[in-house]
Parts: sequence; C-alpha cells; structure tokens
Amino acid sequence: MDFKFSEEQEMLRRAVREFAEKEIAPHAAEWDEKDYCPVEVIKEMGELGFLGTIVPEEYGGTGMGYTARAVIIEEVSRYSAGLGIAVMTHSLVVAPILNYGTEEQKKKYLPKLATGEYIGGLASTEPSGGSDLVNQQTTAEFKDGKWVINGKKCFITNYDIADVTLLLTKTGVNEKGRPELTAFIVKKETPGFGIGHKEDKLGLRSSSTGDLNITDLKVGEEAVLGGRGEGQKIVLATIGEVGRSGMSAIGLGIIRGCLEEGLKFAKERELYGKPLTNLQAIQFMIAENRMYYEIGKLLTYRATTLKDEGVRCDVESSMAKLHNTEAAVKAAQRTIELMGGYGVINQYPVGRYLRDAMSTISAGGTSQIMEIVIGGDTIKNF
Ligand SMILES: Cc1cc2nc3c(=O)[nH]c(=O)nc-3n(C[C@H](O)[C@H](O)[C@H](O)COP(=O)(O)OP(=O)(O)OC[C@H]3O[C@@H](n4cnc5c(N)ncnc54)[C@H](O)[C@@H]3O)c2cc1C
Repeated sequence: MDFKFSEEQEMLRRAVREFAEKEIAPHAAEWDEKDYCPVEVIKEMGELGFLGTIVPEEYGGTGMGYTARAVIIEEVSRYSAGLGIAVMTHSLVVAPILNYGTEEQKKKYLPKLATGEYIGGLASTEPSGGSDLVNQQTTAEFKDGKWVINGKKCFITNYDIADVTLLLTKTGVNEKGRPELTAFIVKKETPGFGIGHKEDKLGLRSSSTGDLNITDLKVGEEAVLGGRGEGQKIVLATIGEVGRSGMSAIGLGIIRGCLEEGLKFAKERELYGKPLTNLQAIQFMIAENRMYYEIGKLLTYRATTLKDEGVRCDVESSMAKLHNTEAAVKAAQRTIELMGGYGVINQYPVGRYLRDAMSTISAGGTSQIMEIVIGGDTIKNF
C-alpha cells in the first residue's frame, strides 16, 4: 500500500492552496452572506487548469485524474464549501461525456469544459423525489426527427450558470416494463431551457441551486449521450463515483477548516492565564477533529485512487461521502463548543461551516441511501 501523493499531486495542492488563500478565503464570508456564486473565480480556475484534471490532454485537460480533482475540491472547500460544490458539480457533465460520449461530442464539449469556457451541471432530481431517480417525470418524445423534452428539475447546482447540462429524461418503458431513461446534453441557450426559481439555502450559499423548467425543448439525435435507454446507467455511475467522491472531498475540506480554525483559536485564547490548548478537554476535541480528518482523507483518496486505476469505486465513494459529510457536521459542532461563546459569533467562520456541512448531507444522495449502498454490498460481497 502506498499512502503518498505523487510529487505532481503535491505541487498541485500547493498551487491550489495558494490560490484559495488569496482568491477564496478573503471573500468566502461575503459570498455566503450575499448568496453569491462567484462565476468569475470558477472561470479563473478553468484558465489555471483546475477544472480539467479528469480530461485527457488530447481534449484540452491536464489528465491528472480523480485524486487531483479531489485535492482541488478539498482545498477550495477548506475556505468555501459552496464554491466547492459548484466546482465539483462541473465534472458531473465532464465525466459522462468522457466515458460515454461519441468522438464528436467529446471534441465539441470537453476542451471548452476543461478550460472553464463552459460551466457544467447535471439535472436528475425532480420534485417527485431525488432518491427515487428511476421515477422520472421529465419526458422526451421523438417527433418529426427531433427529441421534444418537457418536465421540471429541482435542486440543480449551477442551474443558472451551467452552459451545458446533462438532463435525465424518460423516453418510454423497456422490455422489462421498467422506465427507459435517456440522458441528453443540453446547451443553456436552447429554446425551452427555462431557468426557474433559486433556492435560498441554509448553507453552501456560494453555489446556486434551483429549478429548471423544461418546455418543448427540441434537440437532435446528436444530443443523446451513450444511446437511448442508457441514461439510468450513466447518471447512476456518474453520481455514484464522481459525485459522491466529490462530495466526500467537500466534507473533508470542511473538517480541515474546523480543525485549523479550532486549533488557531485554542492556541490564541487564554483561560486561567494559559492557552486553551493546555486544557485536556480541549485537546480531546482537537484529537477528535484530527482523527475525523485523517479517516476522511484515507476514505476519499482511496476511492479516487481506485477510480484513477479504472476500478469500480461506488461503494468506497459512498463510504467516504457518508463519513465525511456526517463527520463535518460533528467537527463543526465540536469546534463551536471548543470556542465557547465565540463559536456562535459570525465573525468566526465555524457557524458557516456547520451550515455548509448540514447542506452536504443530501446532495449527491442522502446518508440513508449511502447506508443502503454500503449495506447491500456488505451483505452480498463482504
Ligand atoms: C445543496 C444541494 C445540491 C444538489 N445538487 C443537485 C444537482 O446538481 N443535480 C441533481 O440532480 N440533484 C441535486 N441535488 C438533489 C439531491 O440529489 C437530492 O436532494 C437527494 O437525492 C435527495 O432527494 P430528495 O431531496 O428529493 O429527498 P427524498 O428522496 O424525498 O428523501 C427524503 C427522505 O427519505 C429518505 N429515503 C429515501 N429513500 C429511502 C429508502 N429507500 N430507505 C430509507 N430512507 C429513504 C431520505 O434519506 C430522506 O431522509 C442537490 C441537493 C442539495 C441539497
């Protein structure tokens, strides 16, 4: 077993950390307060190659892979988990185009997505329930040589800023009598692509989340990704491995934020004439946060290392996502306690970390759904 990052990954981490300290940390509280998604920062990240790690060089990316992507998401989420989810979601259209797209689709979209010229999103959740992904009410009918799409999506990250969205639809019923789902690559400017209501979220407020109202949206056969009826497989694999490992990296960034902010506070704050770190009860809290971080790191980067090796990692990604998002909530709560009264003062960022952590739990699948995936696999294979 090799627990070391490569020199290339370490260099990337240093570069992203420097960027995050300069371009993200000073603004994160204001973006949260104003509920503002800083598109200009996402674009800048694209220009620096931070959005193209999973895209091979031949399509304009850096080809550094999923571990590199998680390093970037962790570093961004250390200061702004909201921006972290916007950046994370971008790859939920990149990965499926790369894995299931035709050569024409790859050439058309990947170079622009890799450099941030295009921002991406994925729309599967509907008001009928995100956990019941198969129960799609959005329909696509083939009429006069075009697919005509109608329906409503909700809770879609980047819904208003994504130039390209992967849209999951129902195109019929298959031979087993189950819904036949098909995924379409849709451009924002396509008539019928209606940008709807924006959600006023508890946390992750530096990302925009909202509804898409799709009305008589027409696309040709060239917009179908991976073939008719392949949508369920494509979207489940994308959310299961790319989405959940990405959400785990966001949780990891929040845990590190709690660890570092708590440590800094405890070293500076004096009680009984000595730093707070002298109290054993405070040392226990710091130890718990450190352990959460180290466990989370192992889980996240194990999943992404498997992904980079081409090994299936949906169960590992679910474990990392479940652990890190839940641990982020506990780490934030614990850090607020460690800080005494100061913990609830908004001048400190930890209250935001708690709101962000709470908001990561259902994104990409709830904790109960993670337990179903992990439990099912354990019963069958362990
Ligand atoms: C910040 C944020 C960003 C998001 N971004 C996107 C995005 O970009 N694209 C997108 O498509 N979606 C997105 N989502 C939606 C997200 O994927 C869904 O919220 C999630 O799948 C849960 O769906 P739901 O909210 O409809 O809850 P429901 O599915 O209605 O679940 C309600 C409750 O029932 C429980 N439950 C459901 N099924 C079972 C079961 N079988 N056994 C036990 N308990 C169960 C759940 O755990 C939960 O507690 C986002 C959500 C959030 C909060």
